[in-house]
Amino acid sequence: MAKTFQQLMDEARKEIREVTVQDAKELLENNGKFVLLDVREKDEYREGHLERAVSLPRGFLEIKVETTVPEKSTPIIAYCAGGVRSLLAAKALREMGYRDVVSMSGGYTAWKAAGYKWVQDYQFTPDQLIRYSRHFLLPEVGEEGQAKLLRAKVLMVGAGGLGSPSAYYLAAAGVGTLGIVDNDVVDLSNLQRQILHSNDRVGMPKTESAKMTLQALNPDVKIIPYQEKLTSQNIMEIIKDYDIIVDGCDNFPTRYLVNDACVLAKKPNVHGSIFQFEGQASVFYPGKGPCYRCLYPEPPPPEMAPSCQEAGVLGVLPGLIGVIQALETIKLILGKGDTLVGRLLCFNTLTMEISTLKLKADRACPMCGDKPTIHQLIDYEEFCNLRASHAA
Ligand SMILES: [Zn+2]
Repeated sequence: MAKTFQQLMDEARKEIREVTVQDAKELLENNGKFVLLDVREKDEYREGHLERAVSLPRGFLEIKVETTVPEKSTPIIAYCAGGVRSLLAAKALREMGYRDVVSMSGGYTAWKAAGYKWVQDYQFTPDQLIRYSRHFLLPEVGEEGQAKLLRAKVLMVGAGGLGSPSAYYLAAAGVGTLGIVDNDVVDLSNLQRQILHSNDRVGMPKTESAKMTLQALNPDVKIIPYQEKLTSQNIMEIIKDYDIIVDGCDNFPTRYLVNDACVLAKKPNVHGSIFQFEGQASVFYPGKGPCYRCLYPEPPPPEMAPSCQEAGVLGVLPGLIGVIQALETIKLILGKGDTLVGRLLCFNTLTMEISTLKLKADRACPMCGDKPTIHQLIDYEEFCNLRASHAA
């Protein structure tokens, strides 16, 4: 015989212990092992929830709970809006073998009425819920990770070969604030690789062109252009507002400048460099791994360090390396995966050999070693020309 709703509820009440919001609060405060399951719908959860709550809507409970709570002996407190759905959910969990499940009577409504703490996650717009839906499906990103991306501030050094693909993907991913430093204008010879720009923008400042392209891709992203050359005088002021610096520069003075400034400001520096058919990438994270000077204390002599303009570059190569920089940046923001901190990724596009070399912080490094000798920014143009002038 079919059961009425009332009969189902009565049965559930016989099997499942209900706790008051006061009891639930005490249980959570005194026992860190409790998993707090919010079985309401996603949109209810988004509007506000208990602090430690894991969202697992009633409709997905049986399908997903074994991933969320693998151990059947884990104590669980289930709650919903008013205590009905969570009671039925608790009964279902009991039937699946979860031994220690209670339901919070009165639910979220009673919790809020008692004046207890609740939190609200990032409030996504309907468009954002669609735009980032493929990120939400990844447990490593989810709504929490997407909120981190939207709140993140990343500075791109250069809107050229590396900065183009890097900024493109960071904007697509919804990194909320992108600063772009570049004092150059778009040149026809850039378009073979600098995909942020286009034919009709030749002569336009790269920062302006970059802003147009990125804003068209994703209006969520705030683009802050710096139409100036990065120098010892302005870099500290510019980088202070950013969480992560992506170095996409094409010259040694800027590379050392960015390295030193990042060490001084203790900011992660996502490094990329290219030469003809070979590229490299790493993450120099002060306090967590080596810096660029640990690898290369001194710049090569200028005649050994030709630019793309002099040595040529395969257009796809900065695309590959720039995308790796974007990827590393996103991993740093999310706090997921193993980043390239302490490793140098080397990509040879002719042989398709990709290797990662282990890097060690050099205790004798003048910048980040035990007894650093550099305590402020220097004149990098002079530093990088030093050997040439000695040789002359
Ligand atoms: Zn170092």
